[in-house]
Amino acid sequence: DHEAPAASRPAYGDASDVLRRVFGYDSFRGEQQAIIDHVVGGGDALVLMPTGGGKSLCYQIPALVRDGVGVVISPLIALMQDQVDALRALGVRAGFLNSTQDMDERRLVEAEFLAGELDLLYLAPERLRVDATLRLLERGRISLFAIDEAHCVAQWGHDFRPDYLALSQLHERWPTVPRIALTATATEATHAEIAQRLKLGDARHFVASFDRPNIQYRIAPKNEPKKQLLDLLRTEHPGDAGIVYCLSRASVEKTAAFLVENGIDALPYHAGLDASVRARHQARFLREDGMVMVATIAFGMGIDKPDVRFVAHLDLPKSIEGYYQETGRAGRDGLPSTAWLAYGLQDVVQQRKMIDTSEGDDAHRRRLAAHLDAMLALCETVECRRGRLLAYFGQKAEAASCGNCDTCLTPPQSWDGTVAAQKLLSAVVRLKRERNQKFGAGQIIDILLGKKTAKVIQFDHDALSVFGIGTELREAEWRGAIRQLLAQGLLAVEGDYGTLVLTDASAEVLGGRREVPLRREPEKAARASRSSGG
Ligand code: ADP
Ligand code: ZN
Repeated sequence: DHEAPAASRPAYGDASDVLRRVFGYDSFRGEQQAIIDHVVGGGDALVLMPTGGGKSLCYQIPALVRDGVGVVISPLIALMQDQVDALRALGVRAGFLNSTQDMDERRLVEAEFLAGELDLLYLAPERLRVDATLRLLERGRISLFAIDEAHCVAQWGHDFRPDYLALSQLHERWPTVPRIALTATATEATHAEIAQRLKLGDARHFVASFDRPNIQYRIAPKNEPKKQLLDLLRTEHPGDAGIVYCLSRASVEKTAAFLVENGIDALPYHAGLDASVRARHQARFLREDGMVMVATIAFGMGIDKPDVRFVAHLDLPKSIEGYYQETGRAGRDGLPSTAWLAYGLQDVVQQRKMIDTSEGDDAHRRRLAAHLDAMLALCETVECRRGRLLAYFGQKAEAASCGNCDTCLTPPQSWDGTVAAQKLLSAVVRLKRERNQKFGAGQIIDILLGKKTAKVIQFDHDALSVFGIGTELREAEWRGAIRQLLAQGLLAVEGDYGTLVLTDASAEVLGGRREVPLRREPEKAARASRSSGG
């Protein structure tokens, strides 16, 4: 009963003890125990676990069980104070070093570290570029290095941070200290890049299932996005907390204002807002019930709010990895939640343009294009969305149909769109061959539908042989067909105005050597578009 703790550190006991006594949990989740045992035993680990899977304990417990201080590298500077406070509340001796502190605060933490009075030290990655930090670390006793959000080291990924590249030196300087890298992003490519860049060649890989069965994935054609969003919130999520992602700061502001006008507790969040405003909005979102955060992707990493009931995207995410991470913020508590995305042709046009004009070399642009293509394929699939998502992460779904995504709940009808595709591609060909012109989707559709708009008359397009050959489809259906041809690589979009051009594969369709199955546009979308068009 009167055991004295060894040296100055409290006796924490073994991993299960720590889990119960410090964290108050009865049992480990998933592979936590195996991961913890491996790291306690001095092994390196690469942990791929979805958001909410319980990654933190995988390094926190070994840091308490092993001798010395666990050094945690995290890019989430804004959350360090909260994380450390939460640990201190549990009696864990934690501290952090980042750029938000003044000299005195830093000195104090450094002294605690050197005196062995810390169990965990959180460090911003840029600290490791400072020689003084490395010298400090060399004078202390380190139990392990945890590299959180490890995908930030991957240039292939979507969150690349140059400071992470410096983390490879940890292994060179401290070859015997175990390292555990953790991420919720895990395509094979990112995965391999993390291992290579962090020199984790001998690390054991722990890959959890990326399925989030309580999240219902839905992707809808974008007609009137704000109205569609409001419908979703009113009919399915009244009073619920959620996140709405928009691409631009301007649309964040507009969408938040629109929701507030309609009686919803919404707050904007983007990098253009004052740090104090952002902090206030984030705090309200975390503490108050039923807040809706309208944000750019600047918001969300590291946010641990268990009862986020929906994540809505009003613009197409740039990659499946980004989409998966953002939607993964819904339903950490395991209760039913919605991931809803609205996307339209304009998204594709806009993103192609952004890729074409992006900085960096061709390889970089090809990478961005590959990310976008994969995202489009997910949007246009007639198969289970969950299955496609898991396949993207190199995992297999339990069943062909998950029963909890839009394509499983209301299987899309598909139809033979070969003739329609041929008509559409022919219109593009005629404009090019006969007029040496390129046009965007709107004009091509007007030509197919035989609409004598001012622009059609101006360009004399009603004289084309393809004028009016596509009246069997409605405008929304043609838009859907174009989106799907883009997703199938049978059509491409380029330039500032999003003009449509053929691809190498287009010839197969025009030559009758390739069939084109298309997914039928949902009735509701078709109706909305028809009434707004007429
Ligand atoms: P991640 O970092 O993977 O997104 P966290 O480490 O933040 O996930 O854990 C998510 C939530 O699950 C937290 O609230 C955490 O306290 C809880 N949790 C983690 N492991 C366990 C466990 N073994 N038993 C009960 N709750 C756990
Ligand atoms: Zn499904």
